Amino acid sequence: MVVEIIAVGTEILLGNIVNTNAQFLAKRCAVLGLAMYHQTVVGDNGGRLLEAINTAKSRSDIIILTGGLGPTEDDITRDICAKAFDRVLYIDEAVQKRIEEYFVHRGDVKVAASNIRQAMVPSGAIVLQNDNGTAPGLIIEGEDCTAILLPGPPNELIPMFEEQVYPYLNSLGEETIYSKMVKLCGVSESLAEEMILDMIDAQSNPTLATYAKTGEVHIRVTARAADEASADRLISPVIDELYKRFGENIYTTDENESLEAAVVRLLKKHELTISAAESCTGGLVAATIINVSGASDVIKESYVTYCDEAKHRLLGVEDATLKEFSAVSSQTARQMAEGCARAAGSDIAVSVTGVAGPGNDGDKPAGLVFIGCCYNGETIVNEYHFKGSRQKVRDNAVIKALDMVRRMVIRNFGA
Ligand code: ATP
Ligand code: MG
Repeated sequence: MVVEIIAVGTEILLGNIVNTNAQFLAKRCAVLGLAMYHQTVVGDNGGRLLEAINTAKSRSDIIILTGGLGPTEDDITRDICAKAFDRVLYIDEAVQKRIEEYFVHRGDVKVAASNIRQAMVPSGAIVLQNDNGTAPGLIIEGEDCTAILLPGPPNELIPMFEEQVYPYLNSLGEETIYSKMVKLCGVSESLAEEMILDMIDAQSNPTLATYAKTGEVHIRVTARAADEASADRLISPVIDELYKRFGENIYTTDENESLEAAVVRLLKKHELTISAAESCTGGLVAATIINVSGASDVIKESYVTYCDEAKHRLLGVEDATLKEFSAVSSQTARQMAEGCARAAGSDIAVSVTGVAGPGNDGDKPAGLVFIGCCYNGETIVNEYHFKGSRQKVRDNAVIKALDMVRRMVIRNFGA
């Protein structure tokens, strides 16, 4: 089945907003196994939109349109689609009632006539409820082509797609597409691919695909089957095999779990607390952990010790160490981690000291970063040579720091 996307909005054409809806939809369609050959952006212009829809109709089975479902004059997607699919518009009373209720709940006394326009539904269309705004989504099933109209704001489009459109698209085929994501840390994409090359070569159902992220590799395992349970039977042995090959490099098989969330989950499970002593990452490690809701159970305090004096005063790094080996050294990273655990009274402490760049720092090259991690009297320090911009070096350092913590916990407590 072939799908294409038409994003409607002059704002997108002018570069005022980024077409993130297309990115989101394209990714989800790929997961569904739908083929996509075209994406279009068209301004709020009836003639050009009609032309775009007619072109799409002639070559695709499904058109997903986003934007232009609002109440104002320039919101034309509904009208033009009705025209392209030869439908008349009528007022859907259920939709009208929902829109009125939406405004009453917001405390508005009177609903603008323009909002009632949003209750206009092309005859025969399926209405998709919008729980986050007024414009309902619409599915117009034509003879050779189906149009799916979604609102522009991502906070309306994404839940509507996930809850109503994804299941709809999935039900069109005889088989369900079902996938699982395996997320790895500490293995490069090329190595990961090499390690599963035989599996990739032999694949038909399920299929495997690798994606590189900063400091991470994700492997998506996708199966086609009559239902979820049979898809699961196909996927499970593949996941087991990936565990055999990658072991503790795998930090999650939950699509929605980030590395930091996995770390917080592990720390919580084993009732451990953590603190960080950061130099070149300037608090990013702590901030990343605190991004996870519920982080307060595991992190109580953290330190940004950018200058030598602070490393000494707050963490007890010895002056002699700083003098002899400098701040960017494994010795300093070790004492930072140990001093951090002492000062914060945390079970685990992680430290980061390095040269974020872009310039070198004396004889220390940009990208050189030492990361220390200590637990229960044992301290490990790793040396890294990251490439790229200042931001990239710091982002990589955060990921390695989190991963070291994760491995420290697993080594002592198991997964
Ligand atoms: P509204 O009822 O808010 O007018 P709408 O369905 O008419 O919704 P648009 O008017 O086209 O949608 O866009 C509203 C807002 O949604 C835009 O200002 C923008 O913030 C966001 N938006 C629209 N299209 C996209 C897109 N393709 N990618 C990301 N965001 C988008
Ligand atoms: Mg609008």
